[in-house]
Amino acid sequence: MSNAVVRELKSLLGSDQVLVSPADRIAYSYDATYISNLPDVVVFPRDTEQVRAVLHVARHHQIPVYPRGSGTGLSGGSVPLGGIAIVMTRMNRILEIDRSSLLARVQAGVLTAHLKEAVRAHGLFYPPDPGSGRISTIGGNIAENASGPRGFHYGGTGRYVLGLQVVLADGTVLETGGRTAKNVTGYDLTSLFVGSEGTLGIVTEATLKLLPPPPPARGTLVASFPDVHSLGRAIGELAAHPARPMSLEMVDAHCLAVLGDERPPEIPQDAQGAVLCEVLDWPEALAGRLEKLADVCRREGAIATVATADPETQHRVWAMREALSPAIARIKPTKISEDATVPIGSIPDFLADLEGIRKRWEINLLVFGHAGDGNLHPNIICDERDEDEMRRVRQAIDDIFAAALKRKGTLSGEHGIGLLKRPYMRSALPPATLEAMRRLKQFFDPDNLLNPGKIFPDPSGHPAPQPAQDTRSASKSGPGSEHDPGQLKTREGRPA
Ligand SMILES: Cc1cc2nc3c(=O)[nH]c(=O)nc-3n(C[C@H](O)[C@H](O)[C@H](O)COP(=O)(O)OP(=O)(O)OC[C@H]3O[C@@H](n4cnc5c(N)ncnc54)[C@H](O)[C@@H]3O)c2cc1C
Repeated sequence: MSNAVVRELKSLLGSDQVLVSPADRIAYSYDATYISNLPDVVVFPRDTEQVRAVLHVARHHQIPVYPRGSGTGLSGGSVPLGGIAIVMTRMNRILEIDRSSLLARVQAGVLTAHLKEAVRAHGLFYPPDPGSGRISTIGGNIAENASGPRGFHYGGTGRYVLGLQVVLADGTVLETGGRTAKNVTGYDLTSLFVGSEGTLGIVTEATLKLLPPPPPARGTLVASFPDVHSLGRAIGELAAHPARPMSLEMVDAHCLAVLGDERPPEIPQDAQGAVLCEVLDWPEALAGRLEKLADVCRREGAIATVATADPETQHRVWAMREALSPAIARIKPTKISEDATVPIGSIPDFLADLEGIRKRWEINLLVFGHAGDGNLHPNIICDERDEDEMRRVRQAIDDIFAAALKRKGTLSGEHGIGLLKRPYMRSALPPATLEAMRRLKQFFDPDNLLNPGKIFPDPSGHPAPQPAQDTRSASKSGPGSEHDPGQLKTREGRPA
């Protein structure tokens, strides 16, 4: 990028909001995946007008722009392919909390946890609970339609977005939706931007729906199973039961083995998997509801059920669930976290498929996830320096997605497509559906400047469909276009 462009950006935003040193560019070159790529420049707008200014410069010089929140994404969505990384974290003001209308209006860079705390002080509740909520931004949550364990009851972020302010690639400031709980005035443009991964526009403000807090009494059920079939059947029955819990999570036997001393005593050593259910209810109803759910599990073959309202026990059990991801990451240096999602009735078969894939490719595949939504996280723990292992890992990932699609599932339930899953888009969507998405992209971003190289299976997102290309092998087939994801590297500098 020319010095003149950097000077122009500095004059519009201020020098302290434009970074170009190698160290600064490295700091914004990756997300929570194992891939990274340097931006040419990093900018930190403070308001919508500054976002517009950056987009005007980008359009004038035809420079791609990569929106970024906290960079906690798990699909490479905010990894820049050169160009301008536009970091939204300084647009972090909560603009309004309106208790009488149960809504909040925030800038896109507000952290999820900050919003949750702020609305709690008004006696209200913002439900989305991604595990990264302490550091992720509302803009990133909207762009990925993030959810978490309680998404089983409350749904994902999109359900709470009433309206958006979005800056389009040409600098137009678009207002979608509004402040009402219902709104059928024309097309639902708000939903179109939810989950669009920064490819259609940059979210600058959001009007979010709030709820009253849930009932105060909290209980947890831990049920352990002798095999994946009984575990899978129980998940379906728990989801269909009138007493259904607020969260319905699962961990497989391989996760339990990794936990070692952190494994809660509530889960017997011979368990081949366990479900964790969180129930929130009124104190007088809690024990009865937990018992109904425990009954369901016993009927489906549980070898142990522990229902508890004891805060210490619950803390230990849920701390185990939180400790899982870091515990797994300690096994080997490279952690690949997928979020293939299947219809809930297909969970037993999908778990069996995953076990087969683990054996076939002799890889360390562990599964946990938001089972109530069919949203499983097959995690592969490997070492990117081991070429033979990585070859098997790539085959395994192909097989995981093929299995999810065979079970009428989808590539992603909450992490998005980003860079990592784009090679699979053609197998996941009918050509006409993909083409409709491509046309929408073209309409909102005709010069392909917003997060190019993401979601669509071809690098630009614009040309006519071509044969599928795997991001990870693309680098070997020679350089592509200037912003071709094929040039990507892992954090250690190896081809991704
Ligand atoms: C430990 C850990 C736990 C996690 N747990 C969960 C979980 O339980 N559930 C879940 O859904 N995800 C989870 N994630 C994934 C991740 O935190 C979410 O996808 C989150 O929504 C990303 O927010 P972010 O601010 O970090 O966005 P980034 O990672 O910076 O960006 C994500 C995407 O959003 C786009 N984007 C960011 N801001 C904007 C904006 N203002 N306008 C337009 N586009 C924008 C980016 O271009 C990119 O495509 C987890 C990640 C980690 C590391």
